Amino acid sequence: MKFPDAEGYFGRFGGNYYPPEVWPALEELASTYRSLRDTPDFQDALETVRVGLQGRPTPVHFLRKTTTEAGGARIYVKREDLNHTGAHKINHCVGFALLARKMGKRKLIAETGAGQHGVALATAAAYFGLECEVHMGAVDIGKQSSNVGRMRLLGAQVVAADAGQSALKEASDSAFSAYVEQHEHALYAIGSAIGPHPFPMIVRDFQSAVGQEARSQFLSLSGGFLPDHVVACLAGGSNAMGIYAGFLDDPAVTLTAVEPLGKSNETGKHAATLSFGTPGTLHGAQSVVLQQEDGTPSHVSSVASGLVYPGVGPEIAMLHEAGRLKVSAISDEEAISTFFRIAKSEGIIPALESSHALAFAIKLAERSPSSESVLVNLSGRGDKDIDYVLKYYQGEYDPER
Ligand SMILES: *Cc1c(COP(=O)(O)O)cnc(C)c1O
Repeated sequence: MKFPDAEGYFGRFGGNYYPPEVWPALEELASTYRSLRDTPDFQDALETVRVGLQGRPTPVHFLRKTTTEAGGARIYVKREDLNHTGAHKINHCVGFALLARKMGKRKLIAETGAGQHGVALATAAAYFGLECEVHMGAVDIGKQSSNVGRMRLLGAQVVAADAGQSALKEASDSAFSAYVEQHEHALYAIGSAIGPHPFPMIVRDFQSAVGQEARSQFLSLSGGFLPDHVVACLAGGSNAMGIYAGFLDDPAVTLTAVEPLGKSNETGKHAATLSFGTPGTLHGAQSVVLQQEDGTPSHVSSVASGLVYPGVGPEIAMLHEAGRLKVSAISDEEAISTFFRIAKSEGIIPALESSHALAFAIKLAERSPSSESVLVNLSGRGDKDIDYVLKYYQGEYDPER
């Protein structure tokens, strides 16, 4: 990996735009991480937790029925939905927890929106014997009681952020200031490949296990061929960078990021940052941002709560600007009908986030020759979405009822 450079830049994106009082903590993290990451001791500990707690490696699996119905390219999925806690997020959570142990920190701090990142982090903290402090918007705490219960069962402390809209943005501000206060004995475990240097690099590295596994699994399944397309849904970019990492140096492999088009391309009804955003600063890094004229982040929305974010990680922004990464967008409606379709025809209930990537992959397969193949990162399972989808959409989208 050539990027980031010594200052934490991916081309013109990235860097560190947080106030100087946090620089020493970020520098300590960057240098300790660099000195530890390739040691056999660190790699062995990571391997042990991946295999035993998480259930890695996750398989690459052929979607037979969906492929036949699409009538074009073959569709494969990398089953990150089979991770313990149900999504790819635990890949970097266990990494941060191990890093905290090795750095002699006793606590992990993070924010969470719907609670998925918080649950994955609380799980990693429990395994490594660390304290865990998860900041969550007061409104989200009210909405997501089962994830709040899970975090508490796992021993985490859930801190309510009640400023502003009492949602993810406020939780993130609250978590970051808690980290600044406690950085002597705590590590901040960010939720995606975003934020100031070194976070985007560390999250990408821990997630890259997905792409490395997928590459060799695909080669052996196909008898030596690489996929023509690799597809992932995109919010901050952790699952996308994870699977792309295995294919970045293969120019024949087209990489596509699938953004949430929500209800339409009108501001406030989507969260499609690369499609409609402009260069700007968000969460301490230079990147592409959906923003208002005064530079404050736009209001964003999507049926998939994990995709509701007005920015993208800096490496994603760089790859897109360089033309290495294509971007597409999928609406709420398309994602929901794909959720029903994959459940019924493949026996897999995908997360609504991952349903965006799958919806795009099916459209791509329909217009591609049968000699080609598409590999999708199935970033998480849809159990968390079932109640919501059945309550609001079953009659409309499920034709057989
Ligand atoms: C959080 C989440 C995402 C989006 O986050 P990225 O950092 O862009 O990967 C996608 N899928 C699932 C299942 C998630 O939980």
